[in-house]
Amino acid sequence: MSTENNAPLTPMMTQYLEIKKDYPDTVLFYRMGDFYEMFYDDAEKAASILEIALTSRNKNSQNQIPMCGVPVKAADIYIAKLIEKDIKVAVCEQTEDPAQAKGLVKREVVRVITPGMIPDLNLLDENENNYISSVSIVKNTVGMSSVDISTGEFRVTETKKPKIIIDEIYKIDPSEIILSEEDETELAKEIKKLFKSKAITLLPFSYFNPGLCREKIKDQFKLRSLEGLGCSKMTAGVSSAGSILFYINDTQKKKAGHLKSIQGYSLEKHLVLDEITSRNLELTSTMRDKSRKGSLLETLDQTITAMGARLLKQWIQYPLIEEEKILERQNGVFELILERGKQEDIRDLLKKVYDIERLSTKISMGYASPRDLLALNTSLEIIPDLIKLLKSFSSPLLIFSEKTEELKNISDLIKTSISEEAPLAITEGRIFKKGYNKKLDELIVLTTDSKTWLAEYEAQEKQKTEITTLRIKFNKVFGYFIEIPKTQISKIPDSYIRKQTLVNSERYITEELKEFEEKVLSADDKRTKLEYELFCEIRDYISQKNKAVQNTASFLARLDVLASFAKTAGQRGYVKPKINKDKKISIKNGRHPVVEAVLEDNRFVPNDIYLDNEENQLLIITGPNMAGKSTILRQTALIVLMAQTGSYVPAEFADIAITDRIFTRVGASDNLAGGQSTFMVEMEEAANILNNATGDSLVVMDEIGRGTSTFDGISIAWAVAEELHGLRGKGVKTLFATHYHELTELENTLPKVKNFNISVKESNGKISFLRKIARGGANKSYGIQVAGLAGIPINVVERAKVLLHRME
Ligand code: ADP
Repeated sequence: MSTENNAPLTPMMTQYLEIKKDYPDTVLFYRMGDFYEMFYDDAEKAASILEIALTSRNKNSQNQIPMCGVPVKAADIYIAKLIEKDIKVAVCEQTEDPAQAKGLVKREVVRVITPGMIPDLNLLDENENNYISSVSIVKNTVGMSSVDISTGEFRVTETKKPKIIIDEIYKIDPSEIILSEEDETELAKEIKKLFKSKAITLLPFSYFNPGLCREKIKDQFKLRSLEGLGCSKMTAGVSSAGSILFYINDTQKKKAGHLKSIQGYSLEKHLVLDEITSRNLELTSTMRDKSRKGSLLETLDQTITAMGARLLKQWIQYPLIEEEKILERQNGVFELILERGKQEDIRDLLKKVYDIERLSTKISMGYASPRDLLALNTSLEIIPDLIKLLKSFSSPLLIFSEKTEELKNISDLIKTSISEEAPLAITEGRIFKKGYNKKLDELIVLTTDSKTWLAEYEAQEKQKTEITTLRIKFNKVFGYFIEIPKTQISKIPDSYIRKQTLVNSERYITEELKEFEEKVLSADDKRTKLEYELFCEIRDYISQKNKAVQNTASFLARLDVLASFAKTAGQRGYVKPKINKDKKISIKNGRHPVVEAVLEDNRFVPNDIYLDNEENQLLIITGPNMAGKSTILRQTALIVLMAQTGSYVPAEFADIAITDRIFTRVGASDNLAGGQSTFMVEMEEAANILNNATGDSLVVMDEIGRGTSTFDGISIAWAVAEELHGLRGKGVKTLFATHYHELTELENTLPKVKNFNISVKESNGKISFLRKIARGGANKSYGIQVAGLAGIPINVVERAKVLLHRME
């Protein structure tokens, strides 16, 4: 920092530097009245990002200090801009009333906002979670915890396979990643490299000490032991979870009372989707431009609430592998489909629900405004109607089991206290309704009746003095005064005390006016103070009942997703998939959910797929480019995945074996930025599949071997197909699309291989796509015809035909 000038600093700048010293890696927002000011390097950095004027303090002295500022009222917007650039912001407030302060006002950093620590600002995308994740390695185990401080969600997992953690980070997509300063492991290096575009925060080694972390967690959740938590046996998990709690303390300066108890989860308890597969299947964003639009998530999403939208994303990222749990969700969806009217009524009610998951956080962190409480009340008010609607359902997921009394108490309290016109701020009064608090009512009468008194007093004085132009006015310096034009001053009574002379008028006060002023002004002060206290009381009360609000939020989110599944299924003609233990995947007239949705007038051609672990384990699918091979591969993977989320599926009939992992090797997903060739990436992905697939997995292989010479390519594809066929003695269910016709010979030698092709019709040298899968291999590649369709000039196409003929 450039403070090398030798002139002495003012006491205020000394205080500033003293505070700033402890927050070197942040931009410090230093509160001065209605502004947050920034100085030195902070000011230079912030001014350019925020596009605000850079000025300087002590302009005329040698000791100029770069400075810029933002109004407190608009601070959120500026903080958001800095956070977007991964810059942390430390908010330093005046912690005593400037009017009461002797000398310099005391100041303190009250919290640090970082990309992963945004509890209350309106900076968050409501449909997305905002996670901070911490990774810790203890012995050979990797622990990873993720917290969304805005919703209170807290989960932790552990694995001995570092690679899975990388996939998990991609899936969670945290805004900030915490590592230990001293972590020099390969995994830490890999994380720093792969996620360099995210905020990475290095914390002291001691923050990860498993013993200290255990104590920290106990203290956070007021536990005697960790026994009851899902992570009690996870040492590395506990270490990562504890480090986040230490970091929350550092940044939020208070305990986050709303954090839900830690949820331990096993990465093996879900259908495993590695990063490549999630990307290839475009589950939550498209490959081309990373947008949500065009993804499976966007296609399925008909949720109404932000909580539901966030939960749906989780369900898609973590499909289930336990049959009962899948059936439980299916049953919920089934009942909602059966009762269409109720489904719509429920969705209508959900429209009135605010993001109470995040509201409850604001309440317990002490950031909630009166309007937030009103929003909570509006949301809770639907509960009685909702319960009535849900009465006839029997699925456990549709039964609201939270104690309604507690919710009603919260609701009633808000309803009787907070005025519908309450402001956003809690320090300006006007929060409460009449009748809520007697003392407050008295103060309100005093302040609001003042207008009547003033009007009456003015009228009385006019009459008494016979000065019709007499006016009572107010300003901050003099308080209330009587203003009289100069032409009239001969008429003023002796009791008037002159205060000020202006060009055309004189200003006076009177005893009565002074007395009145004192009463009113102190009443006004007392009123805002009392309102503030009463409001904090209410907020604290609700904060203690937070569990009920959080449980309600979880219930509503789940209901929203189930109703969304029901709605989508009804609209698009999806069916309820059967779940089997016979290790077969049977799909009749299956469709690709996303492609189908963008094609108009039912132009999508449905197809059947049948896979088992006996004669139909490896399907070799041939057909020209553009025939629809990729589409059928992906649609099969998506239908299996959707079935395991509990959703209905786009097919006429589906019977699905629970799948432990889906692997995809699709197209050329270049990782040129990572410095790898297409071929390398392709081979690494294939290696990953061969090393990790099991008899319960589903493998989707699209055009493997493309990135090298034809003979190399065919040989590799051939060998990989053979290996998949016999993998670990069992083989693995595989859809193998290839344009190497040679591979169709495998059907003759391997018992579990079946050939299929996607048919095309050829007439007069032109082809048209039928999009229908049929038994047998394709006999021609039609590459030249497809080239023609793509717009290659006719002479080039004709020349290619001649060359082909010659080579054949
Ligand atoms: P391939 O992998 O054989 O080159 P794709 O699967 O990429 O072909 O399909 C090419 C295009 O054909 C897709 O973008 C899609 O618009 C269309 N298509 C594929 N399958 C179907 C289908 N079953 N019904 C209608 N259109 C389809």
